[in-house]
Parts: sequence; C-alpha cells; structure tokens
Amino acid sequence: TQSCLTAIDAADALNAFVHKTPEIALDRAKAADARLVQGDAPAMCGLPIGIKDLFCTKGVASQAASGILEGFKPEYESTVSQQLQDAGAVMLGKLNMDEFAMGSSNETSVYGNAVSPWRRGNDDAQLTPGGSSGGSASAVAADLCLAATGTDTGGSIRQPAAFTGITGIKPTYGRCSRWGIVAFASSLDQAGPMTKNVRDAAIMLEAMCGYDAKDSTSADLAVPNFEAMLTGDIKGKKIGIPREYRMDGMPAEIEKLWADGAAMLKAAGAEIVDISLPHTKYALPAYYVIAPAEASSNLARYDGVRYGHRATLEAGDGITEMYEKTRAEGFGDEVQRRVMIGTYVLSAGFYDAYYNRARRVRTLIKKDFEDVFAAGVDAILTPATPSAAFGLGEMTDADPVQMYLNDVFTVTVNLAGLPGVSVPAGLDTQGLPLGLQLIGKPWEEGDLLNTAYALE
Ligand code: GLN
Repeated sequence: TQSCLTAIDAADALNAFVHKTPEIALDRAKAADARLVQGDAPAMCGLPIGIKDLFCTKGVASQAASGILEGFKPEYESTVSQQLQDAGAVMLGKLNMDEFAMGSSNETSVYGNAVSPWRRGNDDAQLTPGGSSGGSASAVAADLCLAATGTDTGGSIRQPAAFTGITGIKPTYGRCSRWGIVAFASSLDQAGPMTKNVRDAAIMLEAMCGYDAKDSTSADLAVPNFEAMLTGDIKGKKIGIPREYRMDGMPAEIEKLWADGAAMLKAAGAEIVDISLPHTKYALPAYYVIAPAEASSNLARYDGVRYGHRATLEAGDGITEMYEKTRAEGFGDEVQRRVMIGTYVLSAGFYDAYYNRARRVRTLIKKDFEDVFAAGVDAILTPATPSAAFGLGEMTDADPVQMYLNDVFTVTVNLAGLPGVSVPAGLDTQGLPLGLQLIGKPWEEGDLLNTAYALE
C-alpha cells in the first residue's frame, strides 16, 4: 500500500486518481496485516486497489466526475466496494472517468482527462487511456494499484482495458449489485474488475459479485470459485467468429490480431466456427437511443436540492430558474447532449418511433446471441476496439458520433446482458496495445475467463 501511495503521488501527470485516500488506505492496510498475522486472511487481504469515482464510498468524495456532484460525500458504501473491503482489499482512492460514465476517452471528466502511460513509438503526444473507466485503466497499466473497479454500460471496462494492455471483464447483467453505483443506464450498467491478468480478474470478480436484495435486478445465484476454473483446458470448445464484426475499413493489423487469436485458441484444442449475428449493425443506433433515454431519467434527480452543486440565484429567480441554472452549470456538454437526446426519444410524439423501436431491436440482438449459443457455440471472439488508443484531443473536435463509433464491438454485449472480457493481444505497428474480446453465455463467467486464460 505504501509503495502504491508513493507511486500515485509521483504520477500526478496521469491524472488517474482524482481523490486520494492515503489515511483510509493505511488504516485498512494495517487491519489487513493484523488479519494476516491471525491467519484469517480473506481472498484480497491487503491488496491495494483503486475505485472508480462512479461508486459511492462512505465519507469519501464520490462525484461521478461531474460538477453537479461537487462536494458530495455519501453516507453509504456501494455493495460492490463494501464486498471488496470485506474481502480485505485496500482502497487507495477514487479514479478518474468520463462524466457519469458517458464517453470513450475520459475527456468529459470535470477533473480533466486521465492520460495513458503508453506512447506511440517515439512520439510524446499524450494518448487517451480510453473511457469511461480511463482512470482505472491508466492506474492499473502504470502500476499505481494492483487492480481497479470499472463499470461498463457500453464498453467502459473493455475498451479502456484494450487501450492500455490490461484485462477487464463485464460480467452478466445482474451478477454484480448496482446498489450505490451512480446510475447511468440502469438496464445496461454492470461493475467489473480491471486487472493486470486473467487470474487477478477471476479473484476480484468473485469478491465483487453475489446476490443483493437492494438491487431488484441482482441475480440470486451462487458465485463460483472462478479462479479454480482457470485450467487452460479449452479442448472441444466451439468458438464463433461473427462475420458482421468484419467492418469495412478495419485496419489490417486488427484483422491479423483477430486471426492470430483464433489460431491460438485452435492450437489449444478449440474448434473455430464462422457464425452470423445478423442484427449487429443496428446495435450502435439502438444503444445510443436506449442509453440516453435511461440516462435522462436517472439524471433527473440532480436538481440542486438533494445532491452537490446548487447555482447562485438572483433576486426574482424561482424554482424553475434554480433547476435550470444548476443543471446548466453542473452538467458538461456531453451529459447535456445525452439528456436532450434521451428526453426527445422518450417524448410522447417520438416514443414509439425511437425508444420502442430501439427496444425491439435490442430483443433481436439478444436473440442473435441466443441462437448462436443454442447451436452449440461456447464463446465468441471479436476485436475489442476498431483501433488502438487515439491521441487526446484528436476526436473531441469531431462530430460526437465519431466518438460513439468506438463502441461498435462492445455495446452488443450490454444490450444482450452477456459477459464479455477484453484481454491484451499484442501491440500494433506503433507499439500500442490491442485487445481481443471474448463474449460468453449468461452466468458462465468462469468458462469465459478460462477461455481468456488460454489466449493470454
Ligand atoms: N462510450 C460509451 C458511452 O459513452 C460507454 C459508456 C459506458 O460503458 N459507461 O455511452
């Protein structure tokens, strides 16, 4: 813990930790030492980790990287961060992210963006660690902590993991409790671990998941010992390669990475089969209707009354002005854009044309996966992202849709509620990490991690 705290202070330029909690960390580390001495050490006893700013942590600033939650210190601890604490993990502080987890580059954060520890060849231009869990990815990749929590609504664990050469898994929807995690799009949000390798992910995921009566979508299922399932034996497993993920204009090195990954799984005894997920092309548009719709509803609670920031009012201002000024000052541009899109697609005149249609498309996407699994496929292999990490500022001037296109391989998994893992799979020609994604059957994170283990 001490060595991580020192590393964190020396790495302020990465802007990964936005609230440091050294006193809490040292107290918990001492308590962990005592448990180790007593011989009653739980699975993550004394392991120093970072927590994404989206998780409410008792008495510690929890702002979802938003100005509207300025000064908010929750009275409660999220279920997942509590479970990690119960497993002995030591929180070092809170990690940077895109505001309310909306973004793919960490550039919508009120704290300014986190920076990737990676560079393109000899070029010093700063690169994005990805988003929204960019601080988590940067901190793990730069060895500021052993692991970090992330959340994934449309790729926010898997894309930053791919951009920084680490491992990240989004479990099946319902595996991890959402209680105490600031809500973005409640039917898509899931927490998960971001770690240096698959074994760490298995250990940390086991600590994070489990039934919680405080989340009505939490699954009442036993949590397996995921680590014990890492045998590396994938003989006879059927791995599907979905043809719709071969996008026009896909860089040759991503194609090659994908083919190499399939060859590696084949060499380990898996059978590689071509599959079709015909509704893939509608996933991104459906996601960018459903996610903003849910966000606009979830973010209605930030009204200047209950949490964080309230605008300074002028004489004559009433409650409407108070709401308007508070929300205009507190929310950044991307969040305001999502709230506007969301309220539009939910409005009486457009609900059927946009929101209901997107929900129907979502059902078809889910069915595509169900059909493939019913035909005997065990897991699906795809690239995690359409490119390696881009430069900070490179995409911010572009049309926001360009940024949304980053999520093309990841959002299908959230729409279908499936588990997905991103594992580092090599470097591109400029020396930047690239990731491969494996998508698994519902509740089969153990098998999925074992297949990822064979790819490592
Ligand atoms: N890039 C996606 C978005 O902006 C990722 C969101 C997420 O997974 N939190 O919506």
